[in-house]
Amino acid sequence: MANSTKKVVILGSTGSIGVSALKVANDLFERIEIVGLGAYQSADKLLSQLNQTGARAACLSDQDVAESISADVPSGVDMFSGEEGLVELATLEEADIVLIAIVGVAGLKPALAALEAGKDLAVASKEILVMAGQEIMETASRTGSKVLPVDSEHNAIFQCLEGKEPDTVSRLILTASGGPFRKYERKDLENVSVEKALNHPTWDMGPKITVDSATLFNKGLEMIEARWLFDIEMDRVDVIVHPQSIVHSMVEFIDGSILAQLSVTDMCFPIQYALTWPERVPNSLPPVDFADLGKLDFEKPRTEDFPALNLARAAGNAGGTLPAVMNAANEIAVAQFLKGQLSFPGIWEHVESVMTNHKVIENPAIDELIEADQWARIYPIV
Ligand code: MG
Repeated sequence: MANSTKKVVILGSTGSIGVSALKVANDLFERIEIVGLGAYQSADKLLSQLNQTGARAACLSDQDVAESISADVPSGVDMFSGEEGLVELATLEEADIVLIAIVGVAGLKPALAALEAGKDLAVASKEILVMAGQEIMETASRTGSKVLPVDSEHNAIFQCLEGKEPDTVSRLILTASGGPFRKYERKDLENVSVEKALNHPTWDMGPKITVDSATLFNKGLEMIEARWLFDIEMDRVDVIVHPQSIVHSMVEFIDGSILAQLSVTDMCFPIQYALTWPERVPNSLPPVDFADLGKLDFEKPRTEDFPALNLARAAGNAGGTLPAVMNAANEIAVAQFLKGQLSFPGIWEHVESVMTNHKVIENPAIDELIEADQWARIYPIV
């Protein structure tokens, strides 16, 4: 399939990943055709993206906003709305691949619908893999669809694993930037401000994921994400701090050899690989300049002072509804922190207390996962 054009639907097109995906599509216009765009309520941005891409289908999940702009939608564009609208987009007849870039769990139903309709899935929303990774991977293997990771670490591991037998893999090594507070004393973490937490040293991302990078919950979620994407036990998923974020992750094989994937820190790299897979295509992105970098550093994560990795390992080991509960409790805690209503260490404390008080359901159905998620969201913050 040389020079094939992929017809792509982007759910979450106005967010950070969505905007980068449109940059990739624009750069590779002969390879990538955008056929559908979905957003939550950023109507103006969505309308300008429709004009820019020529996509013929769109959705705003906020129904009121969708109604309010109906007169401004370019002619020939099918405009959907609400949760069902996202499913309509995800199952669009002409789509080959659906990029799920919606923050949180709103992408879960559209993702499963896309797989059922035989579409490939590019997953940027780690929450849906944390919450329902087993269901997603089982659905994909039943329908013959492919799940392509967009998260830079998992995209790196995916690249390192290509063509390798599963029984030759000894462990996955996720790299973590360590966030802006890598060198902070435990006591100084008490007084971390929202502004400081939003100032990520290497990646430019949305506010929720930037705070998650500072607490290391982002890496915790990624450990669980890796467990499902690559069908590997939590005990064989390790984390190493790598402040430069040039090595995006590594795979160690049974002979002790390690393969790594490197590139400059730009989400366009993993997005492009997911959207053009299995092909490699030239682009206009800058290469790594090793001489300029000089060195790459690695250090052990401070799991005592940043408990998120231990909480995530416990959640991933327990499985069932616990990862969904951890994820939801963290979303609520981060929102409270961003509003100035919870301290930075309060995020870990809240998540731990919700996890401790949850009765885990094993092998949950999707409805049970959603119930557990809802339960965790209304758990009181003390
Ligand atoms: Mg990542």
